[in-house]
Amino acid sequence: MTDNQAGWKMDNSYLQLPNIFYRQQKPTKVKAPEVVIFNESLAEELGLNCEPFQNDKGAAIFGGNEIPNGGVPLAQAYAGHQFGHFTMLGDGRAVLLGEQITPDGKRYDIQLKGSGRTPYSRGGDGRAGLGPMLREFIISEAMTGLGIPTTRSLAVTSTGEEVIRETIQAGAVLTRVAASHLRVGTFQFAANWGKKEDLKELADYAIKRHYPELDGEENLYLSFLKKVITKQAALIAKWQHVGFIHGVMNTDNMSISGETIDYGPCAFMDNYDPATVFSSIDQEGRYAYGNQPYIAGWNLSRLAEALLPLLHENEEEAVKLAEEALSAYPDTFEMEFLTGMRQKLGLFHEEKEDKTLISELLNLMNNNKTDYTNTFKALTFGKLEGSELFKTEAFIQWHEKWQQRLGRQEESEEDAQELMQNNNPAVIPRNHRVEEALEAATKGDMSVMLNLLEILANPYEHSAEQAEFCQPAPPSSNPYRTFCGT
Ligand code: AMP
Ligand code: MG
Repeated sequence: MTDNQAGWKMDNSYLQLPNIFYRQQKPTKVKAPEVVIFNESLAEELGLNCEPFQNDKGAAIFGGNEIPNGGVPLAQAYAGHQFGHFTMLGDGRAVLLGEQITPDGKRYDIQLKGSGRTPYSRGGDGRAGLGPMLREFIISEAMTGLGIPTTRSLAVTSTGEEVIRETIQAGAVLTRVAASHLRVGTFQFAANWGKKEDLKELADYAIKRHYPELDGEENLYLSFLKKVITKQAALIAKWQHVGFIHGVMNTDNMSISGETIDYGPCAFMDNYDPATVFSSIDQEGRYAYGNQPYIAGWNLSRLAEALLPLLHENEEEAVKLAEEALSAYPDTFEMEFLTGMRQKLGLFHEEKEDKTLISELLNLMNNNKTDYTNTFKALTFGKLEGSELFKTEAFIQWHEKWQQRLGRQEESEEDAQELMQNNNPAVIPRNHRVEEALEAATKGDMSVMLNLLEILANPYEHSAEQAEFCQPAPPSSNPYRTFCGT
């Protein structure tokens, strides 16, 4: 395969940053790489040709044994607050191969995750298990289907080697595609371990890459901070709309571009309950569903802190500016949240009482332990059987109020229903479905996962095939738990 045939068009802009920000690092070769799943439609978007990858050559690249032409692999330095504790981190088991320039001129990081040890590995083995990498593939592609900004998954390649976690698992490498891997933690690293000039170069790089429209702004770095705040507010609101729980919202797992990044112990909520937590290591519920908006605000404060030296020469003034920017976050989040919730209820315009209408519905769901996704789906199609909630007096009253609210808007019932259909997914990656797919896939049968991916690709379709994937898991005595040992 020549690189022309494969379609690689790699650039390495990250190398222009001061060298504290990375170490050049090749992936560690693996024994017997085999591509387990390859995302053809994403490959096409990237300008890659699928056919040349369907042989050992593809496995060699996505397993880390060969570097695509033009790529200069490196591990990135970053720090982060993990469950509130600040640490130096960095890519301990990932390398950035380079940045693929797509046919329409976009730039995407191509990263191998699970590609071996790096200078930032600390005690880790630098590797990843097949199950968790396939899990990231499923959830990130589901998020894409749901229309939520996210990193994506190009391939999962088994390594022919074992990794030792709680159990012995097959090893694998995920090829991750991202607008960039710049994190809040990258700025924390610069602020703590770099000079002011390093921080400035990082900020200039991030602005040029993600927010070039800010060029010429009076206080460029303040505008940048505000932009990231707005992006994150919009992203977290979208998570809340579909019941996505990230599970490990450490500052190193929050991207500057506003994409969802780092799928570890994440999962989707079934019954509506703001206290829902799936991650086994989140004993305190720091990253519970209902806490996500606050945690994002907390993380953004860490970004603001890191940027202080660039905001103003006078520290007091800088703090003032940062606080002012951060103070916009709660309102921006709420505006984004309510806008999406209105759409979920078929409402085109804003009325003052909408916030109450929305929170009343959420409270009813919480009190009656009803499935979040399916309740909105039932409202969309006016199918109010099935759930005990719909028989309660409180719900009947709420429903009447909602109908009156719908009646007050000019748009037709059909338009309102269409709006709801486009904002209330038929399917989410239900935990038992994801587990079922992974169970088969790790035993060599990819058919269940491929079918699930197809169902999740168009969640707003509400097709007949999707019907059986709408069911929540049968009640079980063991609550679903996700693990960080990925
Ligand atoms: P994560 O929980 O995936 O966000 O990772 C947090 C930090 O731990 C990052 O710096 C990772 O690179 C590092 N890390 C996670 N797993 C491993 C591993 N198996 N080997 C080396 N570093 C790891
Ligand atoms: Mg991470």
